[in-house]
Amino acid sequence: MVIVGAGQSGLQVAESLRSEGYDGPILLVGDEPCLPYHRPPLSKAYLAGEADEAQLTIRAPAALAKKQIECVTGVSVVAIDREARAVHLSDGRTQAYAGLVLATGSRARPLPVPGADLAGVFALRTLDDTRRIATALEAARTVVVIGGGFIGLEFAAVAAKQGKQVTVLEAADRLMARVVAPPVSDFYARLHRDHGVAVELGAQVAGLDGVAGRVSAVSTADGRRFAADLVIVGIGIVPNTELAEAAGLTCERGIVVDECARTTDTQIVASGDCTARRLPGGALLRLESVQNAVEQGKSAAAALMGRERPFAAAPWFWSDQYDVKLQMVGLSAGYDEVVIRGEVEARRFSVFYFRAGALIAIDAINEAGVHMLGRKLLDKGHRLAPEQARDPHFELASALT
Ligand SMILES: Cc1cc2nc3c(=O)[nH]c(=O)nc-3n(C[C@H](O)[C@H](O)[C@H](O)COP(=O)(O)OP(=O)(O)OC[C@H]3O[C@@H](n4cnc5c(N)ncnc54)[C@H](O)[C@@H]3O)c2cc1C
Repeated sequence: MVIVGAGQSGLQVAESLRSEGYDGPILLVGDEPCLPYHRPPLSKAYLAGEADEAQLTIRAPAALAKKQIECVTGVSVVAIDREARAVHLSDGRTQAYAGLVLATGSRARPLPVPGADLAGVFALRTLDDTRRIATALEAARTVVVIGGGFIGLEFAAVAAKQGKQVTVLEAADRLMARVVAPPVSDFYARLHRDHGVAVELGAQVAGLDGVAGRVSAVSTADGRRFAADLVIVGIGIVPNTELAEAAGLTCERGIVVDECARTTDTQIVASGDCTARRLPGGALLRLESVQNAVEQGKSAAAALMGRERPFAAAPWFWSDQYDVKLQMVGLSAGYDEVVIRGEVEARRFSVFYFRAGALIAIDAINEAGVHMLGRKLLDKGHRLAPEQARDPHFELASALT
């Protein structure tokens, strides 16, 4: 079995192949110079200096050796020959496969404006990015974050806590607009402003200026100019589908897979950030999360063993900013009613999303219990009516029975 991409999902497929009973050789090929690592701390504890590099490694070399998983690092797969069932590696090797896994992840979306390539402008995706950013942040005084999504806001929180002068430029009229309802966006804008961050909404970046090749300011389309000696670009990701596309696999916003992580080639599965899952109704679902990387990885391993293990659980995700933990479950797109429960001022509340009276998602803010309950409610298809969610005396757990 050959796995392309030694990230969260690739490693999961390798380990799940073993737990599914596969005892043949497993080759995990990764183009980064290190063993698979946890990315979430890159914009949280690791960036803040609260976790060291050793804690990022998902599995120690000895554990991989014990499971007889061979991991080659610093080597990329450059082509797939589906007819010969072989992959070509950047070190000149050709490796035959019985089953192939594409777990190539994603990369940061580049900022398409002049000056985006100046020194001092960073994307935050890899361990290497974070090392360079942490060094630059030490020396920086004025920081501009382009993009008010999770990664940009988590970075802003770390930088603000270090006493930097931080400005967040968001093109939309509210933060995290793609995934949360306005009350959650407003809460986060207030939270950041309370920590001294300037949150500029409707700020479309037009270009970056530099002095002697280093960034010095960011300009917006409405003519404003923000001084910056460090700029972080967090405007989304691009799935790494090029290998799959060149091999003729169906790709549309990602490598298209079914609920069992199967591609259009019976010998090839795909999992994690690089995929777009075809839902029963025909729509494509792209998820960028640890849960998706892990669960789809398990499905992919089962599929290679000829078994069906559909990934059907409600999606969940989390984000840490200051002392606030946001935990999301479900997909809120298409909601027609929102119920807020809890104490917004005390920074402990949850937002319940409904569509046609049915619960579809919950954003829990510093309410881990509600999040866990929401996962059970959504996974088991229990009903919770909007008026029950709205009633502070209604015991949420009773909806589980
Ligand atoms: C800063 C940051 C914070 C995050 N925070 C959260 C969070 O709080 N919660 C959450 O759920 N998710 C979070 N995520 C998202 C989560 O980390 C990803 O969804 C997850 O890592 C996806 O795993 P993956 O294995 O699909 O991709 P990746 O982890 O990207 O791994 C893919 C690997 O494949 C390699 N590769 C690509 N092409 C090739 C090739 N041709 N040959 C060899 N190797 C190749 C890539 O270089 C990479 O190492 C965060 C991500 C980032 C960057």
